[in-house]
Amino acid sequence: MIDKNQFRGHEQLAYFHDKKSGLKAFIAVHNTSLGPSAGGCRMWPYDNEIDALNDALRLSRGMSYKNAMAGLPLGGGKAVIIGNSKTDKSEELFKALGRAINSLNGAYITAEDVGMCEEDMMIIATETKHVAGLPHGDHASGDPSPFTAKGIYNGIKAAVKYKLGRDTLEGLTVAVQGVGHVGRYLCEHLHGDGARVLVSDIVQENLDYAVEHFGATIVPTDKILSVEADVLSPCALGAIINNDTIADLNAPIIAGGANNQLANDSHGVRLMDRGILFAPDYVINAGGIINVCGEAVGDYDVNWVNEKVENIYNTLIHIFERSDAEHRPTNIVADEMAEEIIKNVKA
Ligand code: NAD
Repeated sequence: MIDKNQFRGHEQLAYFHDKKSGLKAFIAVHNTSLGPSAGGCRMWPYDNEIDALNDALRLSRGMSYKNAMAGLPLGGGKAVIIGNSKTDKSEELFKALGRAINSLNGAYITAEDVGMCEEDMMIIATETKHVAGLPHGDHASGDPSPFTAKGIYNGIKAAVKYKLGRDTLEGLTVAVQGVGHVGRYLCEHLHGDGARVLVSDIVQENLDYAVEHFGATIVPTDKILSVEADVLSPCALGAIINNDTIADLNAPIIAGGANNQLANDSHGVRLMDRGILFAPDYVINAGGIINVCGEAVGDYDVNWVNEKVENIYNTLIHIFERSDAEHRPTNIVADEMAEEIIKNVKA
């Protein structure tokens, strides 16, 4: 029943059922070698407990890799609440989750993820101090999107330097899928650097903003992945690199913020075979968790955060070099580098 592949070196798995509030949640702690585990809390209408459990296991392991590659003193963890974020939210439910997190004595630090909002996090924070990404309070770091976008911009520059031998983005074309929180800040950097920006979105208002402020050109949503560009930057949805899209990709670089861009690991091989340089998503989009970490581990210091966000450039160059040297895809190389970082700290 349980996908055994999702159990890989996890340290702790807890199930919480609070009958009064209706809370049903899993908290998975994958690894704490580098520090307390951290990762967002997701609220999703899973069909059953097993699906929720597998998601918690998969996502918590992903957070270990992401935090390790970002150079953070954090391990990987994740909380998932089984419920509909539109109809099942209540103060009692989030307080019960706060008590659940508190019972782990700091082994897991939570933050916002799909289905959750700042108000929910503030309620959780009334029961536990192990919450980050709060809108206000002593060390509140606020919206992580500008930091995520800055990291992606640094990552795009690394990919452009490595693949095209160029130091700036001036005169290059970058196609951005999704101009929401992250995409919009990213376009600002790209435009500021003299890049030509192509955008697609399903919300007209977001497109209008990009046209007005960054001189962007609109591309229909069903054309953005195949449009000719120097860089394709997916900043909307996961699994957009799949069997249906991979043959039509028309950019030598894929570097964007969306989580889980490859439908599965084998698509990394296919990108490599096509000569397309892929910046592993969890490495390039780590700016947000870096900022949250700044809040979670002590006195928030924006210089510390910016230094780590800048370093995404170097981390990606290492991945690209090793991928080429070993002729293995960047997504697999990134996973291995993360595992090495975690293993070495244990030794
Ligand atoms: P968002 O919801 O603000 O923006 C997503 C945008 O994509 C929206 O404008 C939406 O209309 C658009 N969109 C949806 N479907 C689309 C489609 N088919 N074609 C084109 N556009 C489409 O989300 P966000 O916070 O900007 O995050 C974007 C991505 O980055 C997500 O995958 C998220 O998980 C990931 N991410 C975000 C952060 C962060 O700091 N916000 C950090 C790490 C990863």
